[in-house]
Amino acid sequence: MSLYDEAVTFLESEGWSVPGELRGEVVRARRAAYADNSEHMTVWCPAAPDAEELHRREATLLQRFAEEARTPGAKFLLVESTQGLSTDFRRLAKHEYNVDIRVPIQFFDARFKWDDTSVSALAGTAAQQLRRDGELAARRRTPQPFEAVGTGVVGSDLLTDLARRFDSPGAWDRPIVLVTAPAGFGKSVLFESLFETLYTNFQKAKKQLRRAYRPLPLLPDYAALASAPALGPMVDALLQTEVARPVKQPTFQWMLTRGFASWLLDGLDEVIAQDPGFFEYIHEIVARPDNPTTPRILLCVRDSLLSSNQALRDFLAVAHEYVEEFRLLPWRPESIRTFARIRLQDKDQELLSILDAKPQLMKLCGTPYYAELLAERVAEGKTDGIPDDYSEMDLVYDAVDAIMDREYKKEQLQENVVSRHDLLDVISHVAVAELENDNRGVPTDEIGQLAEFVLPSDLSDPERERCTDAICRLPVFRAASERQRVRFAQDVIFEHQIGIRAAQYFAVNPVRFAQLLDCRPFPPDSFALRVLCARIRELAAGEELLTRLASATATPTAFRNILQVLLGLPDCARLLIHAPLERQDLSGLTFSGLPLAGVSFRGANLESTRFNSCVMTGCDLSDATLHGTRFDACLPTLAEADFGHLTGFVSVEIDSRTAIEDVADFVKLLGTDGRREHPFVGPCPTALQLRFLFLKFVRPDGHYRRDSLDEKGLLSGRRIVDPASVLNGAVRAGFLTAIPKRRRYERTHSQLYADMVGFAQNLRVTPAIRSLLEDTCRVEGCSHVVQENLTSATFD
Ligand SMILES: [Zn+2]
Repeated sequence: MSLYDEAVTFLESEGWSVPGELRGEVVRARRAAYADNSEHMTVWCPAAPDAEELHRREATLLQRFAEEARTPGAKFLLVESTQGLSTDFRRLAKHEYNVDIRVPIQFFDARFKWDDTSVSALAGTAAQQLRRDGELAARRRTPQPFEAVGTGVVGSDLLTDLARRFDSPGAWDRPIVLVTAPAGFGKSVLFESLFETLYTNFQKAKKQLRRAYRPLPLLPDYAALASAPALGPMVDALLQTEVARPVKQPTFQWMLTRGFASWLLDGLDEVIAQDPGFFEYIHEIVARPDNPTTPRILLCVRDSLLSSNQALRDFLAVAHEYVEEFRLLPWRPESIRTFARIRLQDKDQELLSILDAKPQLMKLCGTPYYAELLAERVAEGKTDGIPDDYSEMDLVYDAVDAIMDREYKKEQLQENVVSRHDLLDVISHVAVAELENDNRGVPTDEIGQLAEFVLPSDLSDPERERCTDAICRLPVFRAASERQRVRFAQDVIFEHQIGIRAAQYFAVNPVRFAQLLDCRPFPPDSFALRVLCARIRELAAGEELLTRLASATATPTAFRNILQVLLGLPDCARLLIHAPLERQDLSGLTFSGLPLAGVSFRGANLESTRFNSCVMTGCDLSDATLHGTRFDACLPTLAEADFGHLTGFVSVEIDSRTAIEDVADFVKLLGTDGRREHPFVGPCPTALQLRFLFLKFVRPDGHYRRDSLDEKGLLSGRRIVDPASVLNGAVRAGFLTAIPKRRRYERTHSQLYADMVGFAQNLRVTPAIRSLLEDTCRVEGCSHVVQENLTSATFD
């Protein structure tokens, strides 16, 4: 890629039109402007390999500048380095011909509005705030141990590793780094520290006029500024908020694919859950066949998103070759010791001796957030009376209490004006408001309205205002970057409040309870669901919860959340038999250590569902979608479950075996005993390959997955027969349409789509499908999809 090509493609991304140039040295760009005027730009990109050659060409260049003296518009000389250019030449270029001399990082970079602002400046944009947080975090950060998923390699500090990776000049093998961590593991600390490091190094490189990647952070803050809470509009919001000149998405993508920007995404779990095009957007960028350099993208998510979000799982299945995954690990005692030293200096022994005496607390401190809460108590000298069985819920409850204490002490709020109970009430209502408005932050005037209910009616207006203001400034909140909004500073406290509120609604207001739990799918390890579960256990209200579950069958999100709470109850085995699980979406859930006799999963979506140490005898799984469904330590009783005709079989994983993707292999593994009377549906190799192809557009439960996919994605994955021949067959039969320019294929929007769904879901063969298989299958006299009896089936 020459400088000339870079300049042309860059200007095209900015909406300039550039007619072809034979010599490939001068870019003459034109762009329509207001009132029939055109904007012009001329860029000389001399192919000059070194300083000496460039120096020799000075006279010729000046002559060219003179020839173009009458050409309107901005003029640039773009060179890899200004070395070799004489002072005289530079002076003449600028003063006689108005030609600015630029190196690539000057010409192509998109500077931030605040690049030259000092760090201490108050307020500012989300990225500026991020940088400031990163600076603070760096001073007291404990190294964050991690594991490289897939290789099992363990490292002592992910920040060091990522910073090295993102700053390395060498090409990356894989464009996406995925970092997963449970809540409270310091993902945000890692992210802000990394951004600060990369940004500082970038500015250093830019000052030295070296090529470098500008880190562009995409944060949830932009959702409130975007036209919709989706990735594309959020990129627009990022560019408008942070970048000094008007830059649009094509230029943003140009920078990503040409080595001028890296893209860092954090805290977008809610956006991912709502934006069906989220991963398509990223995939489209990384999978372009003509990317000159490998993009560099960091995606940080809660680890639970892997189980709660189908889109992420789908993406990893299709695009796994683009992704490298790292997982933050819990702190081991040596990390906790390091943390204590950094956080408490000479008081560190005080914390460590408490932890040594109470193993339960040492375990809690494996989660950095909890270690911080305990350290705070040590710092404040409030360590008396911590019970041995101190739980995470007690810890968080006491932490919120301590926050209120400090506010009362600072006299920001008076306890006789707003009581602790009332303050907690406002805080948990704010949590609900944040949950219900998709984490866009809660407007401060809404908090004012909530405060109205608890403030004494005889308060003067200025006093009232002062109190509301103090509530908005409580350290449990932080200002969202859009002014006049706040959001929760810590996920754990936010979820705790949601759990408390849900428990209250459970007792008194079934409608609000169901609404609250229908807001978003909580992950299985969610603190909110654990708080709720603990409360229901105290109330021994399992039966009542089962009633709520039964009335939530039409609201899949609430159903899923309530079911997860039910699974945490001690008597859940007994309750599960009566749970209406048939035809529900149970994808990604885990059933652990349960006897499942009499439990019916008939027709349910069990995609990526995990059964762990369950007794499967007498469990009904007929017509269930089995796709990446895991059975760990269930094998002895697996054959005693009822799998029906296995029409929903795509793949299962059993213990440490490689995934089973052929239904006949699965039937064989289950053994012949007791299954003779059950025929199962067996596809021929071509039919199986076709189903895999269709499953890239349709989910195994028949729901929409995507409209189009690139060729690489379509041909990747399992090959039973040549996937290209099946792809071409599907195109000939009108199920897919090729878009040759983008090397993508689009699914049909005609009535053939119903055939596609039926075949993907349970191998239903319609006349159109039959003729496609006739056309593609190479087996003489094949009937493609047949009902087989195990006794008549032939296994090799
Ligand atoms: Zn066939």
